[in-house]
Amino acid sequence: MGNGHGWWNFDTRGVRDAPGFFSSFEHSRRSIVYIAPSGVQKERILPEHIFVLPFPQPPSPHADRTFLRRPKQNLKESACTPLFWNAFELRNAGSCIHTHSQHAVMATLLWTGDTFTLSHQEMIKGVRIGGTGQALSYLDTLVVPIIENTPNEEDLKDSMGEAMKRYPDAAGVLVRRHGVYVWGLDWEKAKTQAECLDYLFEIGVKMKLAGLPAVIES
Ligand SMILES: [Zn+2]
Repeated sequence: MGNGHGWWNFDTRGVRDAPGFFSSFEHSRRSIVYIAPSGVQKERILPEHIFVLPFPQPPSPHADRTFLRRPKQNLKESACTPLFWNAFELRNAGSCIHTHSQHAVMATLLWTGDTFTLSHQEMIKGVRIGGTGQALSYLDTLVVPIIENTPNEEDLKDSMGEAMKRYPDAAGVLVRRHGVYVWGLDWEKAKTQAECLDYLFEIGVKMKLAGLPAVIES
């Protein structure tokens, strides 16, 4: 992937270089969701390539998703769509970002249990409780649940939702050998959460590889 992804640019290398999926809606409870198409050059996305959906989705006798607008081209909405819905419904998020950041993936390989934990790092103060609440303190230990990957991305919906309920304070969910889901009240806040967490995954991985403890008991 090249540098930058059209309408958002990350400063953190790992995030910027990762394939990004993005969705967002205005922060009212009856609103509109914008979803990026799947399998395209993300840095070349144009407004007419974006899927527009109502939130919440109207009840339907079928499993089909309801759209307000589909791209004229033959595109498919991101396979992450049901996972973005977890962030909207369970965290009241206004935006959710998914990346395949190598820092996130390495974190899931070096932390072999069901959580990534890190303490005593200044950037922990940039992470919000539950992704949308108050900021953590320097003395808080960052805990991000890790779920196992599935061959089809949409099949992660239930295990991601369970992890979000089991760890209500977590600002994101890592997916082993895959990446991370991060959210925020709006796209700017989701982006800063993604940047802070990516930084912390990166330094956590470097600390672990240097033989340093990731968590210090205070
Ligand atoms: Zn993915």
